[in-house]
Amino acid sequence: EYQLARRRTYLKIDLDILTENVSILKSLCSQNTDILAVLKGNAYGHGSIEVGKHLRDIGVRHFAVASPWEAIELRKAGIESFIQIFGNACEEEIPDLLEYDLVPTVGSVEFLEEWALYTQDSCPNYLLQSTYPDETRRQIVIKVDTGMSRNGFQPEMLDDVVNYCDEKGIKIHSIMTHFAAAWDNPQFTSLQLETFLNVAAKYRSRGIKLHAANSAGTLLGYGTELDFVRPGIAMYGLPPDTTEMAISMYQRLGLRPILSWMAKPNLVKTMSEGRCVGYDKTYRCSEGEVIATIPLGYADGFNRLLSGRGIITTENGSECPVIGRVSMDAISVRLPQNEEQCKNFYIFKNDFTSPNSVVELAKQLQTITYDVTTSLAARLARVYS
Ligand code: PLP
Repeated sequence: EYQLARRRTYLKIDLDILTENVSILKSLCSQNTDILAVLKGNAYGHGSIEVGKHLRDIGVRHFAVASPWEAIELRKAGIESFIQIFGNACEEEIPDLLEYDLVPTVGSVEFLEEWALYTQDSCPNYLLQSTYPDETRRQIVIKVDTGMSRNGFQPEMLDDVVNYCDEKGIKIHSIMTHFAAAWDNPQFTSLQLETFLNVAAKYRSRGIKLHAANSAGTLLGYGTELDFVRPGIAMYGLPPDTTEMAISMYQRLGLRPILSWMAKPNLVKTMSEGRCVGYDKTYRCSEGEVIATIPLGYADGFNRLLSGRGIITTENGSECPVIGRVSMDAISVRLPQNEEQCKNFYIFKNDFTSPNSVVELAKQLQTITYDVTTSLAARLARVYS
């Protein structure tokens, strides 16, 4: 309420829809499969601390981010759950990994050798002592490269890597792989899964967990019988792909976007013939047009390519074209004649079909939904309900 009263623009995030999305995703998996919720990129722009706390409160116990820096923010906010760091683990991250009880994703022998040194007696004492329970501390995730080629050990190295860990007393939490094209290449995804299981399945009997599926894998049933699935985009109710097929699948399953971007104008003007709006005078008004200035711009994540092309909507659903250039902190929109008094606007609307849905924007900007929401700036207030 405080935030709502004091801001003319804010992101509205519906945590009840998040809860529903998570339970829909869970229903697509085997009964014992857990969610490893992906919170990197500030929870894809939705705010990792609040989203993480909510997920923890509804029983999600495993999280992943891209870097120790992102994880430390969660730790400082009081999230004590398992946190995996997705990026290729690097030597210089080890002090933070140990101090904050974070779980590295390992794909190189060099890192393993360093990790082995740090977790032995030569390691500074304060890094080895921690408030976290010992059985969960100093674990790693081993990544197997089955076709993405950005991280992970080659499949044929896995046995040697596990043996090395056993020798050095390194605790293995899980073994994972990552799909390169789960949404639209079923042959390749099946091959990746088969390659992974061929080398990793035998370790399950030792209590080492296995995981492979991102959102697309979870939705299409690749790896949904393993110990975890790792959804990101689908938890936020957005499809990994902007095709009709993806949208109709979401509608059928009941997955819905959790984010809307709201704004109120901070100036409304009636224009006379020939006056121009914004930098470079790219828009020339006709007599009597009503123009609203909305206090957000490309520094908030409203892409400058939407200059003269974007559409926002009034609370009644009327469309208002973005006119002139998008500035760093302001945009101008033309108000429809019957909505000149409108005070509340949707910059992004949390559905699939409005011209300002994240899916439509991704299409318009020739990008993907991930890019649209991770561009939402830290300076935007996020209001959770
Ligand atoms: N697993 C890994 C290793 C990832 O890097 C990502 C994100 O890129 C995900 C899972 C989640 O992907 P998505 O948002 O498509 O579900």
